Amino acid sequence: MERQKDRLLWIGGQYQQGTAGEFFDTLNPADGQVICRVAIAGDEDVERAVNAAEQGLREWRALDGTARGRVLMRTAWLLREHRDELAHLESLDAGKPIAETPEADVDSAADCLEYFAGQASSLQGEYQEVDGGFFYTRPEPLGVCAGIGAWNYPLQIAAWKSAPALAAGNAMIFKPAELTPLSALRLAELFKEAGLPDGVFNVVQGFAETGQALTGHPRIAKVSLTGEVGTGKAVMRSASDSLKAVTLELGGKSPLIVFEDADLDNAVSGALLGNFFTQGQICTNGTRVFVQESVRDAFVEKLLSRTRALRLGNPQDPDTDVGPLISQGHMEHVLSYIEKGREEGGQVLIGGERARVPGCENGHFVEPTVFDGLSDDMTIVREEIFGPVLSLLTFRDEQEVTARANATPFGLAGGVFTRDLDRGHRMAANLDAGIVWINHYNITPIEMPFGGFKQSGIGKENSRRAFEHYTRLKTVYVAKGDVEAPY
Ligand code: NDP
Repeated sequence: MERQKDRLLWIGGQYQQGTAGEFFDTLNPADGQVICRVAIAGDEDVERAVNAAEQGLREWRALDGTARGRVLMRTAWLLREHRDELAHLESLDAGKPIAETPEADVDSAADCLEYFAGQASSLQGEYQEVDGGFFYTRPEPLGVCAGIGAWNYPLQIAAWKSAPALAAGNAMIFKPAELTPLSALRLAELFKEAGLPDGVFNVVQGFAETGQALTGHPRIAKVSLTGEVGTGKAVMRSASDSLKAVTLELGGKSPLIVFEDADLDNAVSGALLGNFFTQGQICTNGTRVFVQESVRDAFVEKLLSRTRALRLGNPQDPDTDVGPLISQGHMEHVLSYIEKGREEGGQVLIGGERARVPGCENGHFVEPTVFDGLSDDMTIVREEIFGPVLSLLTFRDEQEVTARANATPFGLAGGVFTRDLDRGHRMAANLDAGIVWINHYNITPIEMPFGGFKQSGIGKENSRRAFEHYTRLKTVYVAKGDVEAPY
């Protein structure tokens, strides 16, 4: 593949060089080839982006919600118009199968823009008569917000952060993960084409240092991060210097629980979606699959036969189910967990090796892997792997599985498969997780609040709840009579 032209920073509605003139390479995970160079933003560039965002805000905040919503809606249409192009770009830069990206990445980003386009005009305060007068509240935008993204859903994450922020009247400076820098730039171009004032959405590129320049910047009011738990803690520490608001969407080690009365085919579908979609690189994945003892053998038979049928291949091939992991380093990280699982006594029922795909010899492919013979204290059952590695566990009863499912510092998500609705709702109430699916897994419609408990995060994305994290509530008291002063 021929190397594409350099990508620059997007500041003030146009491409700009990085001040230091430094670049990094972005690679195609399927073959390790360089796609293009990308400019790195340093402190001065972040400063320029903040200035541009403040400038853009003047125009943006003066628009009413309906007018802001119109721009977001036009952007959504443009995304849909460019669906194939964006789906290919995401597949190229992130190694995601082209069978996934049109819907899971492009449509989900467009859905998000459409949803918040509709919500933009509905931001409203409250009014109440009180002693001596009345008060009302004003949900106001925070100002300049920073979004920092992970590499597994680059376009979707850029939309999930920018759409509610912009709908509420904020400006955003977005930093994509350095492994997947391309689609956020395309989103920026489409925002501009849709009529977004210059400076309201900016993209700065780079590594952790660029992220730190954002989290430490005194004129940035809020930071929303999607990333690892450790990064979340670092971001929160840095943001605390200027008491920035934070939204943190972090990692997980979620339980997927299959009771003996479940529809086993659906439960296996949930386990496959919750472990192997996007090569297992999904934060909410149900990587601890607890199966009730009496249906264990039947479940395993179905799981293995469907896992065996998964096709590893070039992500740009429409027949591919499982593409490469994001990078060489991440592949080694995942393989080291598989090794650790074996060392600690786990048995690999299927997979467990690096895969070689013809035509993609340098790609970072790992076979979908199912581990058996595990106990809850083993490393692969406790730690987030972020790859196609499913841990199979068995349980006897509801009380036992609830305690084991909750015995983790994470609390992102959970799934329950059962035909007993009372039990489904009881489990949902008892699981210590921000999102629980009953008889499904990993489905995230934009209308539904999304966010974790415990060390999996703070705050919610999507739904109207997201507005709470991109606004500040001002209270205004209005007196109806004279001021009675006792002196
Ligand atoms: P990282 O935490 O490594 O990186 C996330 C982003 O933060 C990147 O843009 C990264 O830059 C940047 N960054 C790193 N260090 C700092 C810092 N000190 N200050 C500011 N920014 C920083 O996560 P990954 O990209 O590896 O993504 C995988 C992780 O994301 C997994 O743990 C996964 O569970 C989680 N995730 C959570 C989701 C959720 O909604 N809960 C959804 C998707 C993923 P750079 O890339 O250049 O290092």
